[in-house]
Amino acid sequence: MTNRVLITGSSRGIGKAIAIKLAENGFDIALHFHSNHSAATEVQQTLSALEVNVSLLQFDIGDRAAVKQAIEADIAEHGAYYGVILNAGINRDTAFPAMTENEWDSVIHTNLDGFYNVIHPTIMPMVQARKGGRIITLASVSGIAGNRGQVNYSASKAGIIGATKALSLELAKRKITVNCIAPGLIETDMVSDFPTDLVNQMVPMKRMGKPNEIAGLANFLLSDDAAYITRQVISVNGGMI
Ligand code: NDP
Repeated sequence: MTNRVLITGSSRGIGKAIAIKLAENGFDIALHFHSNHSAATEVQQTLSALEVNVSLLQFDIGDRAAVKQAIEADIAEHGAYYGVILNAGINRDTAFPAMTENEWDSVIHTNLDGFYNVIHPTIMPMVQARKGGRIITLASVSGIAGNRGQVNYSASKAGIIGATKALSLELAKRKITVNCIAPGLIETDMVSDFPTDLVNQMVPMKRMGKPNEIAGLANFLLSDDAAYITRQVISVNGGMI
């Protein structure tokens, strides 16, 4: 039976690139979106053309009950995931003195609670399938080094790094690896208004990364060649830190 991977936020950006790359390599995909149904449908068609099985899930990763219900239903219908990629995330950037309660709460709630909400319902079925597995989370250079204007986002991503490392210890003996990808600046909607001169200043390679350059690493971490890599934070950032 083909291995199946859940990728949150795979309707756009990095998640979409990961979904296409994994489908090209034969993985069945649980494709997830939040609000953009038409973008998700387009990706679903692209994946189906690659002749893999695709299920489509919709939820807000911050809505614990909705996430649990959707994931449990998908697993009941199609079986446990071999891989889970916690990719969906948001930013609400502003200097800390001007940061509203809502900007703090929404980023922490979506990004960090999303770790529990999405990964928790997938674990026991993955363990009980006894095939090992792969969990990959998306952090950021901002969660490693901190970034001005992103105190909320840096906190949420640093939290994801801690949670990822702790979970890796719990699951290692089950042959389930748990790693974190920490991108730098990647060309997606999230950074569409980022000034070019700042890119040149911040990135030694003088360009943003492509979503595909994250997808390549995710694909490797899903492969048998990466079976002994766990508890790691792997940066893809053109030399930023
Ligand atoms: P995009 O903004 O391009 O895409 C975000 C995706 O997440 C969409 O599929 C969106 O679904 C989904 N999403 C957004 N909010 C929610 C929510 N509340 N619940 C469920 N799904 C949601 O993001 P990127 O592709 O740029 O980023 C992907 C990940 O990589 C994020 O975790 C981000 O923090 C991280 N990252 C990105 C960097 C970059 O430079 N782009 C740098 C470092 C880290 P929909 O469209 O349906 O609403």
